[in-house]
Amino acid sequence: MAVSAGTTNHETFIRKTTIHKTFKEQEGDSHAMTGALHGYEAIIGLEVHIQVRTSTKLFCGCPNRFGGEPNTRVCPVCMGYPGVLPVLNREAVRKTLGAGLMCDCTINTYSKFDRKNYFYPDMPKNYQISQYDLPFCRGGTMPVSGVGLSGGEMQSKGIGITRIHLEEDVAKSTHFGSYSGIDFNRAGIPLMEIVSEPDMRTPDEAYAYLTGLKQIMQYAEISDCDMEKGQLRCDVNVSVRPVDQTAFGEKIEIKNLNSFRAVHRALEYEIDRQISDLREGASLRQETRRWDDALGMTAVMRVKESAHDYRYFPEPDLMPLEIGTDWRNEIQDSLPERPGVRRDRFVAHYRITPYDADVLTQDKLLADYFERAVAKGATPKTVANWMQTELLRELSDSAQGIAESPVAPEALAELVALIEDKTISGKIAKDVFHIMFATGKAPSVIVEEKGLKQVSDDAEIGVFVDRALAENPAVVEDYRTGNKKSLQFLMGQVMKFSRGKANPQSANRLLKERLEASEG
Ligand code: ADP
Ligand code: ZN
Ligand code: MG
Repeated sequence: MAVSAGTTNHETFIRKTTIHKTFKEQEGDSHAMTGALHGYEAIIGLEVHIQVRTSTKLFCGCPNRFGGEPNTRVCPVCMGYPGVLPVLNREAVRKTLGAGLMCDCTINTYSKFDRKNYFYPDMPKNYQISQYDLPFCRGGTMPVSGVGLSGGEMQSKGIGITRIHLEEDVAKSTHFGSYSGIDFNRAGIPLMEIVSEPDMRTPDEAYAYLTGLKQIMQYAEISDCDMEKGQLRCDVNVSVRPVDQTAFGEKIEIKNLNSFRAVHRALEYEIDRQISDLREGASLRQETRRWDDALGMTAVMRVKESAHDYRYFPEPDLMPLEIGTDWRNEIQDSLPERPGVRRDRFVAHYRITPYDADVLTQDKLLADYFERAVAKGATPKTVANWMQTELLRELSDSAQGIAESPVAPEALAELVALIEDKTISGKIAKDVFHIMFATGKAPSVIVEEKGLKQVSDDAEIGVFVDRALAENPAVVEDYRTGNKKSLQFLMGQVMKFSRGKANPQSANRLLKERLEASEG
């Protein structure tokens, strides 16, 4: 990324730019902002919170839904009144165990909830029900591979998942100038905390880890992970160290990250900043920094005080849980094929390219759509092409998801069959698809109604061919004198006269036959 002073007059931006320009001049380095590692490497670990999709909250019967007038989806339990009793939502536990199994975690056969004590207005009972030493899941892996966000190829590796535990979400505070409001609609929504090992080394790996996590949660219908709705929140920990050093450096925690792209940008910035500081002889201290997305930089929020003592102790109002093999196996059997496994299967079984398989398995519904169309006998490669061009374009133009597609997979398969048996040309098929999308009609009905059937009869095409020749004597002459490219023009005329319906192979053959006959 080339940064030059003067692209913006924002003071802070220029300051940042200047620091890096100076650095660049000193080193004669062509990387102004990113990638200049100077023998250092980054260590990255992520703490991700994901809201579990359930019908009700974790310990009460209030609806688990986003939005609504503040404090309308509340009850004494989720508002933290004294003396009330939590009742555990089994569905939330089931989905947390599912998340763990999707990430190859070990499920703890004995697990319990603990109270995490702290004082803050978002939690009036002054403790959060969470899990401390016996989380539901531990020791998982998230594979990352392929092309990273920066465009470079990532080395395939597994990122370790330390643990996944379940806790209650807290209320949301909003600050209005001199006072603050608290909304308890969010309080008590089941929230998984997924802690990674410090296994990531680049912003690309962190981005891929998050993308993989989100994909898995969507596949298993555990969460939609919509960051705008606060369903996925991510704290980033990052430190740097000389490549030949084994001990980790002081870690910096970054907050206020509102998109995966922001995580990537914040990491690029922060890694660069830490390396610059160390190279200038400064030492780093453990601190929490806030990402400013508009300025594209981090700033200190707070310097790490002595470690918090939350005085965890077992939650006395909830029984510890025994998670038996039967339940675990039943959950395991209900889970979908993992995205990576499905991608590999698509390549091996349907013989489509790894790129196509990757695009199609990004979204489970897209992959399901593909398989339903192929199950109807359509050629996989053709279906893959149509989905990635016409279907995705129409969906994005009409701001709809694949689930709302007016063209069912079976209908797309039917359209592909019409192309393959030469009822219509590929070009006409695009018009037909457009009408299918707008009206929901079957392709055969549209072809019939609009008279779009391809003309393959030589006599019929011959009429168009003769007309093309008769109306363009100069072009015919041109062809005769050796300019064989003139054929393309005449082909165009035939297609035009037939309104796109002439079978191109037949038209081409007939044209050549007649031109050569007239040459003789
Ligand atoms: P804390 O006690 O501050 O919460 P943890 O050891 O629990 O720290 O780790 C929190 C997160 O930070 C984990 O995702 C972990 O992988 C990551 N992490 C730990 N040490 C480092 C480090 N030196 N550099 C980068 N990330 C780290
Ligand atoms: Zn409630
Ligand atoms: Mg910790």
